[in-house]
Amino acid sequence: MLSWRWIPVGGGRRLILALGLFYLLLAVVTAIVPTSHDDSIVGILTVFGFISASGVVLLVGGYRLPHTEVSPRFYADIARWCLTGIGVMVAILTLYHVQPDTGLSEPERSLPILTGFSCVAGFGVGMYDARAKTQTEKLERQNRLLERTQTQLEESNERLEQFAYAASHDLREPLRMVSSYLQLIERRYGDDLDEDGEEFLDYAIDGSDRMRRMIDGLLDYSRVDTQGEPFEPVALDAVLADVCTDLEVQIVDTRAEIEFGALPRVEGDADQLRQLFQNLVANAIEYSGDEPPQIEIDAERNGENWIVSVRDRGIGIDPAEQERIFEVFQRLHGRDEHPGAGIGLALCERIVERHGGEIWVESERGSGSTFSVTLPAADERPLRTTH
Ligand code: ADP
Repeated sequence: MLSWRWIPVGGGRRLILALGLFYLLLAVVTAIVPTSHDDSIVGILTVFGFISASGVVLLVGGYRLPHTEVSPRFYADIARWCLTGIGVMVAILTLYHVQPDTGLSEPERSLPILTGFSCVAGFGVGMYDARAKTQTEKLERQNRLLERTQTQLEESNERLEQFAYAASHDLREPLRMVSSYLQLIERRYGDDLDEDGEEFLDYAIDGSDRMRRMIDGLLDYSRVDTQGEPFEPVALDAVLADVCTDLEVQIVDTRAEIEFGALPRVEGDADQLRQLFQNLVANAIEYSGDEPPQIEIDAERNGENWIVSVRDRGIGIDPAEQERIFEVFQRLHGRDEHPGAGIGLALCERIVERHGGEIWVESERGSGSTFSVTLPAADERPLRTTH
């Protein structure tokens, strides 16, 4: 590794141009100064050609440097490599020359020709080295920028989470008050109200219930990252069995059929995975249309991950709406058609993101939906599930 630092940063290119000029002049001088050896015109022209070629390469190379991707900070390094080339060649030739029984027959010609070539070789090596350094510098700059952006994003995410948490947490108390007083009015004065009054009170109670569900959903949403448990191997078939137990009432009421075989083990937070599949299966039941819901859950290995899919044969989703449904409070149906707070899929997306995966839906209106998530496989390789 070269450690010379005596070429100023701006002087590297000038030095390369000067070397080019030097070899051109040397070519002219070698051609016009007579020597004691073969002075044929062909010999003179050959020597002139060799030396001047090195000069031209250095001149053109030095001139074109600003048009290359090499950063000017590394021009001095290229110049150092040129000088190293010359130095190494001079050392070799000197060693060769001082050996007994050998020696250069025409040092005044071989020295400029060979040092010219080695200087050009040094230029080539220098360009390669400078390009690599420029690339490294560029990558380091981009990395720093990315790190800064990532830190800013994390900070702003954290602030948003804190805001959502504080807002939803603090809203719960006044809302609880509104709900309890509405219930009190209903209990105490319900009989005195006329038909309109009862209807208005029902709307108010329904509104406050809905707001409570939304706030609870927002609280869950804002806690996914901060209040999650550390990851551990989780058996998905056990998770799905629990989900079916939790949804037993809906399953029985709708006569839903849910099929899943030996599902794999994934690395994750068991409670959050239960929440994820509970939302997906509950939606598959809710949006199954008039027929009893038929739901299949299966898994397919994809590199380090498992793709787990929940498939229903329900009402389906228009492709144009498929992005929107993962946003907070976005719903495609009125509450009179299907109840819901519109936060289930947003919560699913956030849980899957915490597990480093993705969630997506494949669907057409009227022909069912398949929601798929990628989750990291647990260390040991589980059996592949087939349906
Ligand atoms: P909600 O709690 O209101 O169901 P979600 O976030 O879970 O909210 O779902 C958002 C919207 O996505 C729903 O209003 C519904 O229109 C649509 N959706 C979700 N799952 C399905 C499904 N399996 N089939 C058809 N539409 C669905």
